Amino acid sequence: MIFESHAHYNSEEFNKDREALFKRLPEEGIQYIINIGADLRTSRLSIEMAKKYPFIYATVGVHPHDVKDMKEENLEHLLHMAAYDKVVAIGEIGLDYHYEHSPKSVQKLWFREQLKLAKELDLPVVIHSREASKDTYDLIMEAKLGDRKGVIHCYSGSVEMAKDYIEEGFYIGIGGVITFKNAKKLKEVVKAIPLSKILIETDAPYLAPIPHRGKRNDSTYLKYIIDEIAIIKGVSPDEVEQATYDNGKKMYFDVEKINSWLGCQN
Ligand SMILES: [Zn+2]
Repeated sequence: MIFESHAHYNSEEFNKDREALFKRLPEEGIQYIINIGADLRTSRLSIEMAKKYPFIYATVGVHPHDVKDMKEENLEHLLHMAAYDKVVAIGEIGLDYHYEHSPKSVQKLWFREQLKLAKELDLPVVIHSREASKDTYDLIMEAKLGDRKGVIHCYSGSVEMAKDYIEEGFYIGIGGVITFKNAKKLKEVVKAIPLSKILIETDAPYLAPIPHRGKRNDSTYLKYIIDEIAIIKGVSPDEVEQATYDNGKKMYFDVEKINSWLGCQN
C-alpha cells in the first residue's frame, strides 16, 4: 500500500479525467493521498475533494508564490478551513527565492504567521523551500513548533541540513527528482538519512519521474520513486513502500485524535 504524501489534484491538468483517475488510484495500491492547498482557492478545493473521496486528505495554506496577495483576514479563513477533520496539515508554506514571485520580506512575514497558525492548531507543516535554506531553517526554529513538526517537501538541500531537520523531528519529502541522472546531491541525502524519516511524493501534476519526465505526473508513478530509493538504500521496494506508508500515517494523522474517535464509538 502506498502513501502519497503530496499532490495537487485540484490542478486544471486533471480536469479532463480526474474522476476516472481517482477510481483507478486505489486499484493501483494508492491507499492515501494528501492533497495540498497552495492558496485559499486550492485549499478550499482540497477540502471539497477530501469530502468526496475517503482516501483523500487535505492541507490548507498559502504558497510563497502567492503570499503577495495575502491579507490579515485570510489567516481567519485558513483557521476556519483547518477546523475540518480531514485537514491534516498547514501547507504548503515556506520561502522561494528562486522565482521570488512575492518579495522576500512579504514571504517571510506570511511564513511566520502560518507557522504560528500551525502551532496554535497543533498541526504539522508542509514546507516549500527553494534557494532559501538558511532563512527557512531559521524561521522554522524561531517558530518553536510543538511535537508534530512536518515535512520538508521536495527536499533540495544538503545532507547536513537534512540531518538537522531530522534531529528536530521533521520528515524529508522525496519525489521524482530522485530518478533524474543529475540528482547526485539528492541521492546522497537519501543514502545518508534513515528510511524511517522519508516520505514519498509526486507533487503531481509536476516533476514526473523517469521514464515519464516532462509529462503529467500522477500517484501511480510513485513506484518509480520507490524503486530508486530501494536501489540507493540496498533494500527491497516492498520495504520502502511499507516504511514510507507508516511514516506518512505517523506524520499526517494524529493517532491520539483517531484513537479518541474510536473510543467514542465504543
Ligand atoms: Zn507542491
